[in-house]
Amino acid sequence: MDYKNEKLFEEKVFKDPVHRYIHVRDRVIWDVIGTREFQRLRRIRQLGTTYLVFHGAEHSRFQHSLGVYEIVRRIIDDGFNGRAEWNNEERLLTLCAALLHDLGHGPFSHAFEKVFTLDHEKFTQAILTGDTEVNEVLRRVSPDFPQQVADVIGKTYPDKLVVSLISSQIDADRMDYLQRDAYYTGVSYGHFDMERILRVMRPAEEQVVIKFSGMHAVEDYIMSRYQMYWQVYFHPVSRSAEVILIKILHRAKHLHTTSYPFKYEPVHFKSFFDRTFGLEDYLSLDEGVLMTYFQWWRKEEDAILADLCDRFLNRRLFQYAEFDPAKEYRKIGELERLFKEAGLDPEYYLVTDSSSDLPYDFYRPGEENERVPIYLQLTNGELSELSRSSEIVDAISGKRRTDHKIYFPEDVLESEGNPLYEKILQMLRGE
Ligand code: ZN
Repeated sequence: MDYKNEKLFEEKVFKDPVHRYIHVRDRVIWDVIGTREFQRLRRIRQLGTTYLVFHGAEHSRFQHSLGVYEIVRRIIDDGFNGRAEWNNEERLLTLCAALLHDLGHGPFSHAFEKVFTLDHEKFTQAILTGDTEVNEVLRRVSPDFPQQVADVIGKTYPDKLVVSLISSQIDADRMDYLQRDAYYTGVSYGHFDMERILRVMRPAEEQVVIKFSGMHAVEDYIMSRYQMYWQVYFHPVSRSAEVILIKILHRAKHLHTTSYPFKYEPVHFKSFFDRTFGLEDYLSLDEGVLMTYFQWWRKEEDAILADLCDRFLNRRLFQYAEFDPAKEYRKIGELERLFKEAGLDPEYYLVTDSSSDLPYDFYRPGEENERVPIYLQLTNGELSELSRSSEIVDAISGKRRTDHKIYFPEDVLESEGNPLYEKILQMLRGE
């Protein structure tokens, strides 16, 4: 039998706390899971610094990736297979794209990408098409198969129905991470009736659509996403940890460029500081590697680097205050001046940060991040955009919510000894 259609002699299962079991019958899927690039995802947390707020959130990108695969497998094998709109020749490609959609994530993705201006999506493409074990497995299906997987993940693949299963406003990626992140953080939001949604999903020409009778299950899913963003993903304390992480990497980079004599040389980071890195440098990083450096750097002579690393490891995080950039831009300048006067480097100890989310949007051509809306399939077969039928969804459609915060070391400012500290605190607290 050709490799593409080869089945394992016996089905393999992974025990999973969210989906109970993840089933693998295809040889290609089993081989992809065994590659070093995929196994690396075990060493990268799904939620970055969130474990410092919700201590259960230690789950990895490995299990999320398997979860997305399992959802897509169920949609195709239990729902789509046999329907005229679905071409089952696309099955293996869709499963591989589901499994590999987050392959390029690095350790503490957001912080790392921000400091080194990287893009994990480009790394996903590079790992799929480069000289890697994953590429070797995919190429055995056909020479252009690795590129096809990359195209589905990059949303350029011509069959839009396939793309919409992996990335749209109701895709397998979101359905897995909402439930998984709710499970591991222990919060009560984030739960919705996925079983129901899977039963009412239908293949259509351009994308997945939802049978009209499933509208309420979809409303529930959109509300749970909205709640999770503000209660978990943008939690100000985990953002505080991320701010410190970003500043550690900034400081190390700054010290490297000013030829600071590190006691513990940043061997794994040099190529990123100098922007000479290759794929292999990126793949050699994981969260364990970063944590090891933070342990070492706690003992560096540089007081800022040592302090920031100690803060991150021992959860001595920054405090935060609300701030309105439109009205209070002068306040930041004044605070920076006071920080310098008080002997605190504002570059590292006074940080502004913003979060923003759009819970659901209908199609607005030409606008940034054009979004494909969710369509309901009416009983006469016609499609109707979700917010036209659902008042709940209509109420939050297209409404972007943004918030801004300032982060600062309250523990230092509350200590005795510097008369300026009190003045700074009063300003930060808006007294
Ligand atoms: Zn994902």
